[in-house]
Amino acid sequence: MAYDFDLFVIGAGSGGVRAARFAAGFGAKVAVAESRYLGGTCVNVGCVPKKLLVYGAHVADELEQAAGFGWTLEEGHFDWGTLIANKNREIERLNGIYRNLLVNSGVTLLQGHARLTGANEVDVDGQRYTAQHILIATGGWPQVPDIPGKELAITSNEAFYLKELPRRVLVVGGGYIAVEFAGIFQGLGADTTLLYRGDLFLRGFDGSVRTHLKEELEKRGLDLQFNADIQRIDKLDDGSLKATLKDGRELVADCVFYATGRRPMLDNLGLENTGVELDARGYIRVDDQYQTTAPSILAIGDVIGRVQLTPVALAEGMAVARRLFKPEQYRPVDYQNIPTAVFSQPPIGTVGLTEEQALEAGHKVQIFESRFRAMKLTLTDIQEKTLMKLVVDAETDKVLGCHMVGPDAGEIVQGLGIALKAGATKQQFDETIGVHPTAAEEFVTMRTVTR
Ligand code: FAD
Ligand code: NDP
Repeated sequence: MAYDFDLFVIGAGSGGVRAARFAAGFGAKVAVAESRYLGGTCVNVGCVPKKLLVYGAHVADELEQAAGFGWTLEEGHFDWGTLIANKNREIERLNGIYRNLLVNSGVTLLQGHARLTGANEVDVDGQRYTAQHILIATGGWPQVPDIPGKELAITSNEAFYLKELPRRVLVVGGGYIAVEFAGIFQGLGADTTLLYRGDLFLRGFDGSVRTHLKEELEKRGLDLQFNADIQRIDKLDDGSLKATLKDGRELVADCVFYATGRRPMLDNLGLENTGVELDARGYIRVDDQYQTTAPSILAIGDVIGRVQLTPVALAEGMAVARRLFKPEQYRPVDYQNIPTAVFSQPPIGTVGLTEEQALEAGHKVQIFESRFRAMKLTLTDIQEKTLMKLVVDAETDKVLGCHMVGPDAGEIVQGLGIALKAGATKQQFDETIGVHPTAAEEFVTMRTVTR
């Protein structure tokens, strides 16, 4: 049977665009349907605008440090509207770049909501298309627990378009987004409280990292409340919001921001018309080559719920394009040693196993840990400490994990990711000449086993 397209991609986000462009480059006839925004979550309401706001918040640190370096500054004033308008302009520029990337690679771009009507058929706003392969790359959506007053809360989607910076913010959650946005709101001047339901936020990160970040955020005056969760939200007569916690306490704020995880975006996708099944957590079930339980349909990115990071969605998109249209170049995605950063203030950079994971996996570990005041702060009164940590296999000398909390952690950990992928040993770290004077050199000069 002749199909309209060799590949029909649903969703022009990180994974979908990558798969579509490369498939077209390999000679396939490709269409992409996008209902909302080109570039998906990362470009519009994720990584990119988030990082721009983090930069904005970080300016406050630079201003605070300036006096130590001899600079006298007029009293600063921050304008949220200017930051958001400039951010929006940059996002629009990126939307245009994504459009050009797709169109210039020969991909047919369809604007509208795509719904599966069969194993080889998609409906986009009333128009039907057939395809030999269909790729679901519809991403995720914020998930807010079902409590009374949940409609009064916002999520990251709305935070990027707030008209004003709220004066008082309650951030709920203890994952990437909660910690990053708590830093953004507080850095820009809002009175910020972070509420997390467990004992310590960032579950799954290295224990030293979690404790260190907690201490540093508290030094900065962020109000961290653990074992705290909201039971209901009510609007008060003056327009502010009252959050009643499960322990009976009441907190009043102008904005309640929920960052309690993301669900797969499957709304009105028509999966019932196909043989596509979900896994126990509700994500699309795929095999190790991203094939769903319907052989002509594949899925990648946040909608499969493996690792919800843009570079992972990109790698999965690339793997699918190669597998279908350039099999001789196909390489499976390596999910080991994925470097990642949390753009908190200060940021976290991490790659490989945490100390807890290494022990659980049965490794005999040596831990090298260093805490120091960054050189830049020595001319200031700021007492912030940087943490660096190596988890080493005591038997093979292989470095199993590198973890950092401190300025530029995300930048530093990228290179360490290559070292871990190459299987570097602690001896090779030690034999690497440092770059002086930097904080990063500490990773090659830690000689004394901490435990
Ligand atoms: P998406 O990028 O979400 O793209 C899915 C696309 O599909 C969307 O454009 C959507 O409109 C479209 N779509 C959905 N349903 C349909 C339909 N039926 N028809 C047509 N189109 C449809 N990751 C990092 O690596 N680094 C970061 O710093 C980072 N920061 C983040 C900050 C925030 C606030 C958030 C929310 C996420 C962040 N992420 C970050 C995660 C990253 O954004 C996602 O992992 C990534 O975007 C997933 O890509 P994807 O292709 O799976 O989906
Ligand atoms: P995460 O899954 O990282 O964190 C969710 C947090 O919400 C956890 O602390 C969780 O607690 C808590 N939580 C979940 N359900 C509830 C509930 N019902 N009530 C109270 N608390 C709850 O999700 P995020 O929304 O922060 O981010 C989604 C994903 O996006 C991230 O996991 C990451 O993959 C990606 N991302 C990446 C970024 C980066 O690379 N810098 C930045 C932002 C997002 P508990 O731990 O107890 O389950």
